[in-house]
Amino acid sequence: MRFETKAIHAGQNPDPLTGAVTVPVYQTSTYHQEAIGRHKGYEYTRTGNPTRKALEDALASLEGGKYGLAFASGVAATAAVFNLLGKDGHVICGGDVYGGTYRLLEKVFKPWGVTVTYADVEDVRTFRKAIRKNTRLIWIETPTNPLLKIADIRGLAEIAREKHILFAVDNTFASPYFQRPLTLGADIVLHSTTKYLAGHSDLVGGALVTSDAKLYEDLKFYQNAAGAVPAPWDCWLVLRGIKTLAVRMREHEKNALCLAEFLAEHPAVERIYYPGLKTHPGRELARGQMEGFGGMISVEIKGGFAAVERFISRLKLFLLAESLGGVESLICHPARMSHSSLPREERLKRGIKDNLVRISVGIENVLDLKEDLKNALKKGGR
Ligand SMILES: *Cc1c(COP(=O)(O)O)cnc(C)c1O
Repeated sequence: MRFETKAIHAGQNPDPLTGAVTVPVYQTSTYHQEAIGRHKGYEYTRTGNPTRKALEDALASLEGGKYGLAFASGVAATAAVFNLLGKDGHVICGGDVYGGTYRLLEKVFKPWGVTVTYADVEDVRTFRKAIRKNTRLIWIETPTNPLLKIADIRGLAEIAREKHILFAVDNTFASPYFQRPLTLGADIVLHSTTKYLAGHSDLVGGALVTSDAKLYEDLKFYQNAAGAVPAPWDCWLVLRGIKTLAVRMREHEKNALCLAEFLAEHPAVERIYYPGLKTHPGRELARGQMEGFGGMISVEIKGGFAAVERFISRLKLFLLAESLGGVESLICHPARMSHSSLPREERLKRGIKDNLVRISVGIENVLDLKEDLKNALKKGGR
């Protein structure tokens, strides 16, 4: 099956009881057992739920993996992976990651004895150099949040394999429609399903996918033991979102390319980050491992923070909000919003300046979006 077909059918057979074409929301905490120890495979919803199972199977299929696990949030799924590190484990983390991933490592896992080295996602050698005897995990995002840098997934997978280190990729920004890290050598893929997979800014969720049976067993044990599972209703909403993922991603990308070209030429823009532009240093790498460049753009606005405030206050369609990947266009100021959990000097070290804004391009008519940006970037007036 090809991607669009899997998105609609994988894990989503008609309901065996009624024939319902859509997987029902099994809104139940528990399941009747005919006799002690005799049940239909489900005992308690933290451990397993048919709606969640359908979502997990669908996600596994879309990522080209064998096993999926759904969590209550992207961060909960991330914690499940970091938990594999153990007390004295060392992780090499890409320097440009989601603020909450950084916070989880620094404020939750470090106090338990985990050590962290941040490496340059654009230079595989910095990962190799950072390897220690107790290195258990390489963790990256690509494209990264918010600077849209591209990491070499195949190159990092090779190092991880050679050194027997787990390699996990946060695939939230690309979505499985544009990038499938397991097929490029990663061991684990993470998603914040909150974003493109659900796609309508109406829930918070996370997921992991792997093809390794032992890894799956360990992560599944943690999922049940720590208990950060999504509600059946939220699983159903993600499943519903997934059905249109391919269609939405194509529109997100088409609009993003158009707006990136417009912004790149605009005199009020100091610098633009979009992997689909010829000027982007990671473009060739992206072409080799992605099937599209996605719907996220970051720009630095001339005139510092004051100009950013003015620009954002004049926008009518782009909503100022955290998050991304929904059908509506959003704009965010990473320094004060998505990355406020990084101290200012850490932020600046990572190139997240005070005049940087991140745009999640929605699937509205692109002419309306362009007009909105044009108007907000205009000189003078109000
Ligand atoms: C949002 C996000 C997360 C965290 O996911 P939540 O669902 O908010 O917990 C992790 N990684 C990336 C790249 C994200 O954008």
